[in-house]
Amino acid sequence: MHPIRLELETGLDVGTVNAYLFPTPEPVLVDTGIKSEQGYGVIAAALADHHLTIADLRRVIITHPHVDHCGLAARITRESEATVWIYERGQPWLLDFPGMWQQRTRYYQEYFLTKLGLPAWTEPFILNYLTMMVQLTESVPADRLITFDLDSPLSLGGVDWQVIYTPGHASMMTCFYQPETRQFLSADMLLSKTPTPIVEQPEAGQARLPALPVYLDSLARVEQLDIDWVYPGHGEPFTGHRALIAQQRARIFQRKGECLAHIQAGRHTITAIVDEMYRHYPPQLRFTALWMVVGYLDLLKAEGAIKEEEINGVWHYYLNQ
Ligand SMILES: [Zn+2]
Repeated sequence: MHPIRLELETGLDVGTVNAYLFPTPEPVLVDTGIKSEQGYGVIAAALADHHLTIADLRRVIITHPHVDHCGLAARITRESEATVWIYERGQPWLLDFPGMWQQRTRYYQEYFLTKLGLPAWTEPFILNYLTMMVQLTESVPADRLITFDLDSPLSLGGVDWQVIYTPGHASMMTCFYQPETRQFLSADMLLSKTPTPIVEQPEAGQARLPALPVYLDSLARVEQLDIDWVYPGHGEPFTGHRALIAQQRARIFQRKGECLAHIQAGRHTITAIVDEMYRHYPPQLRFTALWMVVGYLDLLKAEGAIKEEEINGVWHYYLNQ
């Protein structure tokens, strides 16, 4: 049995997002889409196909606390007795999304973005984008929130699914794997297009997690799983996860090589490298481009191929010879 895929509009660059419905033995929804009437209507209509309503939902399971995956969770708790489940690392985000978002925005604004050598006009553009994002979700009441760990399976559709921790796109990301039916709910871990390794604020006193190297580790672990069907967070379900992983890894290594060549050719700041590597993008700086280049640099640093130097408050990259 396939989980029922609901395709929901986001209005974001990513396009649509998927939620998955398991109508029996108790109605469970995995992810919700952004906070929107349209999305709510799609979920209600899918439930109606099974003679159910929103009020019948028992559990909402969130793969990771990004607005396009958790936006309607709070509203569902108001209109049902459903509990919302998330991996323990994601709990603070569901409890207080605006507060967590504000902390991340401050980290970007006061620290991270200042190191990139961005032209001044991009800052309001980026901050507007961040302000817009926070409006696409709501916090979930504490008494309706349940956290899960990595050792206890989750029951979906009457069978147990293993929780697989897959940081990279988000440090709080979990996927769900059903070993007998070889089904894999891949969230934003495995998509037909490589997900963006989003820079997150490090935990107090710790170094920033290098998101792309961490993502490659997660990819290697998912590659080991025997999977027939992948149900991604965006796009159509697919088969052949190992071929896709090989292709994405090759592409990442190719782009990393291009990044190194640009440094060698005299592009030393992140902004200068983005301008070369993403010439095909519109001139507004896209997060995708920024975060991918940070990821390639993290890989090159980890390999010892380049070194980072701070000059006038901006990170510069040079070949290690
Ligand atoms: Zn997503």
